Amino acid sequence: MKKRIYLSSPHMSDEGYEKIFIKEAFDTNWIAPLGKNVDEFEKELARKVGSKAAAALSSGTAAIHMALKAAGVGEGDIVFCPTLTFAATANPIIYQNAIPVFIDSDYETWNMCPDALEEAFERYPNVKAVIVVHLYGLAADMDRIMEICRRHNVPVIEDAAESLGTYYKGKHTGTIGDYGIFSFNGNKIITTSGGGMLVSDNVERIEKVRFWATQSRDKARHYQHSELGYNYRMSNIVAGIGRGQLKVLDQRVEKKRYIFEFYKRELSDLDGIQFMPSNDWNEPNYWLSTMILNGKVRPIDVIEALEKENIESRPVWKPMHMQPVFEKYDFIGTDVAQKLFENGVCLPSDTKMTDEDLERVCNVIKNYYER
Ligand SMILES: *Cc1c(COP(=O)(O)O)cnc(C)c1O
Repeated sequence: MKKRIYLSSPHMSDEGYEKIFIKEAFDTNWIAPLGKNVDEFEKELARKVGSKAAAALSSGTAAIHMALKAAGVGEGDIVFCPTLTFAATANPIIYQNAIPVFIDSDYETWNMCPDALEEAFERYPNVKAVIVVHLYGLAADMDRIMEICRRHNVPVIEDAAESLGTYYKGKHTGTIGDYGIFSFNGNKIITTSGGGMLVSDNVERIEKVRFWATQSRDKARHYQHSELGYNYRMSNIVAGIGRGQLKVLDQRVEKKRYIFEFYKRELSDLDGIQFMPSNDWNEPNYWLSTMILNGKVRPIDVIEALEKENIESRPVWKPMHMQPVFEKYDFIGTDVAQKLFENGVCLPSDTKMTDEDLERVCNVIKNYYER
């Protein structure tokens, strides 16, 4: 069997930075709870993205949950959420007993369609918060989305789980709205094995999130709780991996861009292939190189042809309004997200890939088209 090529797998630094920070945690017995790596990882990430404060949490999903709570979302509240995303964007809305309304995508960005968002505000003027996703590392149309949300005075949460390293008009995604979240899950551009971060310029809200995420322990010698708590903090070991990974983020973005450009050069001439959109205002991190097939070849054909050669690829996320678990909730839009799902393929975008690996992937696809 040929060497497995992955969609996106963990890639530790060649320099071994992660091990240095972990070793320090062992040497000082700061295994848990919290500790220096957590404090420093929060500061270093906040500095990197240009945010005033950050809270290191156990996952990106936990960060979305805490962002919703910080934004005041509770029982019966309506939250707008893009339909084209991973389920982890929408699940925390339900954890808060709130009600998602799913919003369609836009072909220009693949992200939340501002026109559909306007329509949603007309139908649900009492909406409590809006979640925006920067899918596959492509920034959403933030100027228009922010203008609409500011006009209605509704807080914006950016799910930047896939877009660490992406800039929108020179600003880091996750720092344009009121709250931003990042994920360090195993398949993301950098990973801590698992973890997340919530960022905001509202320092007081971030402090409150740290309080909720450590079981909401009041300042008292005995165990006193006046609010519901969660066990959502990141461990000091995990944060050590994160500090090391942050040092190679720019390198990873560079390689992801190289991978995208390689595919574009090699595959764009094939019948009906269209790569993910680029916009002037968008400096993506190219987390996953993704394409749409408009010709006779279907995504499943390409995915299966690659799998036969031990190469991993995936369909585009299945929209939330098409998911059995979210069927009963409202959806605003047409069929853009559905079409992206039906025609999209995510190509292997692992930063450890060599040129030979990339050629192997391209040859399988070219051979399929020429068969
Ligand atoms: C990965 C991901 C998340 C969840 O992050 P976890 O750290 O796995 O909980 C949320 N939203 C999107 C868009 C993601 O891709």
